[in-house]
Amino acid sequence: MDGYEILPLDENTRNVLVELARRLRPYQDQLARRWEEAFAASAPQQRGLSDKSIQLIINTLVSVFFEYVGEGRIDDYLHEVTGLSEQYIESGLSYETMISAMHLYEEASLPLLMREYTDPPALMEVLFAQDHLYHNILILVASTYFGRLNDEIRSRAEQLQESYTRHEQFVSMVAHELRSPLSVILGYIQLAIQAVNRGKGVEIETLQRVLTHAQRLKRLMEDLQDASSIDVGRFGVRKGVCDVVAIATESARQLAAADPKHPIAIQAPDSLLTLCDIDRITQVVDNLVGNAAKYSAEGSEIRVTVRQLEDKAVVSVEDQGYGISAEDMQVLFQPFSRLYRQTEVKGTGLGLFITKAIVEAHGGSIWAESEPGKGSTFSFSLPIGS
Ligand code: ADP
Repeated sequence: MDGYEILPLDENTRNVLVELARRLRPYQDQLARRWEEAFAASAPQQRGLSDKSIQLIINTLVSVFFEYVGEGRIDDYLHEVTGLSEQYIESGLSYETMISAMHLYEEASLPLLMREYTDPPALMEVLFAQDHLYHNILILVASTYFGRLNDEIRSRAEQLQESYTRHEQFVSMVAHELRSPLSVILGYIQLAIQAVNRGKGVEIETLQRVLTHAQRLKRLMEDLQDASSIDVGRFGVRKGVCDVVAIATESARQLAAADPKHPIAIQAPDSLLTLCDIDRITQVVDNLVGNAAKYSAEGSEIRVTVRQLEDKAVVSVEDQGYGISAEDMQVLFQPFSRLYRQTEVKGTGLGLFITKAIVEAHGGSIWAESEPGKGSTFSFSLPIGS
């Protein structure tokens, strides 16, 4: 028989089909009768069946099948028939799901077969012949079921693998990131102790370095805490009225003071009020402005723009730095995405992940445009007056 595909089925599925066919055999007459009715309803002059009649027949067959299965869930039925563990077949499939899955199969092997066999009894013979089990309605039912099931199992396995890999990366990144500031702090404290033991005072620079690295550790711990609450869907913001222009200006001013190597230009109206979490939006702008400085050459300008676009406040941070390739753009906002594996530039790859979660928790969105070698612009929007 040409014209339709033999579905590749594993041994287990095949056994299920054989068993289903055996159990449905007593209903063959009933099926045939319904089938005849469906045929009678289709246009007699047509060779083969119209799509509408095919749909009708599929629905009829499915309803016979479900009458047989009864009110019970398909999961229970398959469990009983196959002996597969309930856990394995637990897919939450209901009659309605199955019917809608059936509709997706309009172009599957059964309609092709029906077009080929216009004589109901002959078709019934084919459908119920042991040799052609692959082509009967049970295939349709079971392959739908197993197709869904396999997809679900596959996607769960992929999710698990992904989360395992992320967990591994997470642990090694955390260990690495914690180790370096901690060793620096320990080193300086030892120096300070030796100095005191020798009757000397501790230099202010030593204390300053300890402070810098301790602050880095604290920031890292906060980022990790944020990332973990985002991961479990428990990240929230506390909104109040705030001026986005004031936030952006202060952030730019702070960077200019901390890192005078980059001239900063700001273009903004006098004020632009939104409902937002002032600390969190400050964190967002600090992160974007900080990245613009980190990932561009000394002396290159950073431009911060605030504007109103319809009912949104949009903040953009533009740099003339290294830029980001189209490929890297895909993973930019994912956790731990350090794109250049830079050794000299410090970071965890968590900043943009947290930034995105903050903006989205405000009902806004964030995006980036970039040209490698020329620079990048990161923008985010916040709804005004919500
Ligand atoms: P971090 O800066 O801590 O690595 P982020 O999540 O803030 O983490 O950024 C993720 C990665 O995206 C960075 O490691 C860097 O490779 C890239 N990136 C972020 N901002 C820029 C920018 N303005 N220009 C070029 N690359 C950037």
